[in-house]
Amino acid sequence: TKYVYDFAEGGRDLKDLLGGKGGNLAEMANLGLPVPPGFTITTDACRAYLRTGREPFGLADEIALHLEGLQRQAGRRLGDPADPLLVSVRSGAKFSMPGMMETILNVGLTDATVGGLAARARDERFAWDSYRRLIQMFGKTVRGMPGEVFEDALREAKTRAGTADDTGLDAAALRGLVQRYKDIFTAHTGEEFPQDAREQLDQAVRAVFDSWNAERAVLYRRQEHIPDSLGTAVNVVAMVFGNLGADSGTGVAFTRDPATGERGVYGDYLANAQGEDVVAGIRNTTPLQELEQRDKASYDELLNIMATLEEHYKDLCDIEFTIERGKLWMLQTRVGKRTAAAAFVIAGHLVDEGIIDLDEALTRVNGSQLAQLMFPAFDLSRGARPVAAGVPASPGAAVGAAVFDAHLAAEADTPVILVRRETNPDDLPGMIAARGILTSHGGKTSHAAVVARGMGKPCVCGADAIDVDLHKRQFTVDGHVVSEGDVISIDGTTGRVYLGQVPVQPSPAVRYFEGTLSPEADPLIRAVDRLLTHADKRRRLAVRANADTAEDAARARRFGAQGIGLCRTEHMFLGDRRTLVERLILARTPEQRDAALAELLPLQRDDFTGLFREMAGLPVTVRLIDPPLHEFLPPLEDLAVRVARAEERGEDPGHDRELLDAVHRMHEENPMLGLRGVRLGLVIPGLFAMQVRAVAEAAAQVPGARAEIMVPLVGAVQELEAVRDEAQRLLREIGVDARIGTMIEVPRAALTAGEIARAADFFSFGTNDLTQMGWGFSRDDVEGAFFTRYLELGIFGVSPFESIDRDGVGRLIRIAVAEGRAARPDLHIGVCGEHGGDPASIRFFHDAGLDYVSCSPFRVPVARLEAGRSAV
Ligand code: ADP
Ligand code: MG
Ligand code: MG
Repeated sequence: TKYVYDFAEGGRDLKDLLGGKGGNLAEMANLGLPVPPGFTITTDACRAYLRTGREPFGLADEIALHLEGLQRQAGRRLGDPADPLLVSVRSGAKFSMPGMMETILNVGLTDATVGGLAARARDERFAWDSYRRLIQMFGKTVRGMPGEVFEDALREAKTRAGTADDTGLDAAALRGLVQRYKDIFTAHTGEEFPQDAREQLDQAVRAVFDSWNAERAVLYRRQEHIPDSLGTAVNVVAMVFGNLGADSGTGVAFTRDPATGERGVYGDYLANAQGEDVVAGIRNTTPLQELEQRDKASYDELLNIMATLEEHYKDLCDIEFTIERGKLWMLQTRVGKRTAAAAFVIAGHLVDEGIIDLDEALTRVNGSQLAQLMFPAFDLSRGARPVAAGVPASPGAAVGAAVFDAHLAAEADTPVILVRRETNPDDLPGMIAARGILTSHGGKTSHAAVVARGMGKPCVCGADAIDVDLHKRQFTVDGHVVSEGDVISIDGTTGRVYLGQVPVQPSPAVRYFEGTLSPEADPLIRAVDRLLTHADKRRRLAVRANADTAEDAARARRFGAQGIGLCRTEHMFLGDRRTLVERLILARTPEQRDAALAELLPLQRDDFTGLFREMAGLPVTVRLIDPPLHEFLPPLEDLAVRVARAEERGEDPGHDRELLDAVHRMHEENPMLGLRGVRLGLVIPGLFAMQVRAVAEAAAQVPGARAEIMVPLVGAVQELEAVRDEAQRLLREIGVDARIGTMIEVPRAALTAGEIARAADFFSFGTNDLTQMGWGFSRDDVEGAFFTRYLELGIFGVSPFESIDRDGVGRLIRIAVAEGRAARPDLHIGVCGEHGGDPASIRFFHDAGLDYVSCSPFRVPVARLEAGRSAV
């Protein structure tokens, strides 16, 4: 195997092997852009190392060979005392994991080479500063030393020199600091700081491999559903220096605004600085545009390069660059992360600019982004006044208690906002748990901003009016003191910060779907409208909604639903109708039972009439009652207490006694596997008939009504036949035409779908129950009990109740589709479980050849988009 690729040999299509950073560095080098020479050690090598605990055979030689080439290109040699080559050793996995793994700069500096670097740069101070950064980074990342020990020594040195700023330390002070750092290194590791450059390089490479399994990297991957098996590549790149004075510097830039998607380059620049300084938010950066005044030639070249990159990648790119004494170097690029809103706006703009077509544009957005756009925003009509403003780094409204400690945030069981000066990768658990993130330092490219955007979490950065005091666990702003636990509201869309709880209102996207905001009003909504229209044109799957009330049905229609895929009739038995259901359950004679049913009939009929009116012309699937009847009775404990109290007082518990007896009588050990669904219909005479009659009579009243009657929990064709025969008699009697079909939610039904199809006009997969029964997981109990452990163990990457289990439950679906259609080619097939609104699952349903998905009204636009994306 080949373990090392020169930049000239690589390219972005080799990302699996070279990682995103390595692939794109190679791509840029091959486009003729100014990239420092370097090479990439493959993810293969990393995987072999992680598997066996050591570098694979031959890797050391290959590195030596490529190092030879690198030295030739750079014109200097590693470890050469007169003119040493320095390199960075940089992690870079297939999927970007910002700041999660390690990078070590200035590798190659030793006591023997530091003088040579000083001479070449004609800058003594710079050389010692670079050396002390190496020891610090190396100690921390390669040898796992605590960062504080170095920071404390640095602080002491500054105090001794009477300066508050790193730049106030002169060469002599830094030289002293290097000695101090080396002593600290030895004290902690029991070894001298390595004085052999190649030894430094090898240890750094190993540390990058190891950083793949760092706790925060593992956590990030779980959050982002990145497989643990990929491993990282390692890039070895000749160093260039942004810390060589005022004509040097380093920066980060985007070819478009990653927050809004607006056109125009966007970035942060820091003069006289190295690498991490920009992202770490240590010093406040200046906007990229100021570089134009400082160094017009470099600025113009940078803009040209950004245009080249956009043309090449046909998308928003983000870049990292460094200017060394007026010479521009590109250190990284990739197709940049962006907010959900920016994704839509950019896709629309790229179509306008003729760079991509509408099909391609559909691949640039996704359903979870659209879902994010539908989150509510703050309602400011009641005059909430901001106390501070920062950078709107990741949009959305968040309300929660201020918390200053990431661990505390991670453990909170009420909504919290994580408040920090700035965040670092160790804060990740708290960032995941928090509703929103607020920092007083850093810009759109700071760690907090990048991570929050990746998670779709509201974030305000660099709100410098707030003064965070971590020790007192409070911040002060505008004369107010906000202590830990006080509620604040942050708006990541505008960057504003409010005290207390600001009420929230529907987002522009929802107002657009509701028809109260026209697409012309807003570039974002225009893009959403355009992409959804195209998705509708492309998709093969129809999209229906799960709705039980006329109100939900009306909303579903406004959101683009093409019918109702699931009306749960049991929802119509709640509230004051409960007493009627009680009477049905307690009936001792057929007369009593029929009387109860007769009272329920007109109520159900009215419900259906409302639904049919809203959905006139569109199909409405009514599911006959599904849950066990005792769910409609009061809880056993309540009844027992009431009866006991009454008896204590010497009173007759009467009705409560009857109910209690009924609850005892109907008790089941496994109610979800008990008397429910079709079983109820076959056991309780007249119940299903009443419902079918209500549907039929309602349909007869509403012109254009298209009723579909759906039988739940069928496992054998005989069950369905029994219900269907009676239903068909009723329909004929009333003179209404309706399709009769069944849910497929018991595994046996999927496996005998060929037989069941002969008695069914349609199938609808009830994927919640199918998952529950397919895996044998009680869906009401698993989440807390053991799913966390299962996710940790990687038994599945995401809960099968959230996203369809393709291999198991999905196989049942494929079998049922194939055998059902073989028996009955015109069989209409859909899905009505929660999975109908899940992006990944929708793709599966498209591939499996279903005719429609049905989901909650709010998910309908998401499903339309994803169904369209599945078809291009
Ligand atoms: P991350 O993946 O966390 O962004 P990088 O590998 O990109 O880590 O390194 C972080 C920073 O270090 C870069 O943004 C860049 O500024 C600096 N850096 C990396 N390699 C070099 C180099 N060869 N010369 C100068 N600076 C470098
Ligand atoms: Mg980087
Ligand atoms: Mg079910």
